[in-house]
Amino acid sequence: MREELEQKLFTKYPEIFSNRFSESPMKNGICVGDGWYNIIDKLCLKIMQVINKDDSLKESFKINEIKTKYEMLYFYTNQANEKIDKYIMEAELESQTICSNCGDIILFNKSDVILCSKCRRELKFE
Ligand SMILES: [Zn+2]
Repeated sequence: MREELEQKLFTKYPEIFSNRFSESPMKNGICVGDGWYNIIDKLCLKIMQVINKDDSLKESFKINEIKTKYEMLYFYTNQANEKIDKYIMEAELESQTICSNCGDIILFNKSDVILCSKCRRELKFE
């Protein structure tokens, strides 16, 4: 993800992104395409709503890694609860239908790259 978008998320959710200053994989930044910005933004907002109601989570909850694996979003945290797990799963499923480059909805995915047909052409996947 380009730095400008990453910084937007780090500024909006400084507590849960503080592992980027540690030795966790988060120090490599958010390793997915720009098109998934909104999915991650929405997910972080939902997570904040959950942890703000739970003192122990609020103190220690961190994101450890955000990357693409098996052509979908993978979102690793140091802890979770049922609600957070559900939100993460929903975001990971949603990522399979959103172009990782431009954020457009993908109606038919013909290959194992998560790109809309326009981006696939532009990025020379076909
Ligand atoms: Zn696209």
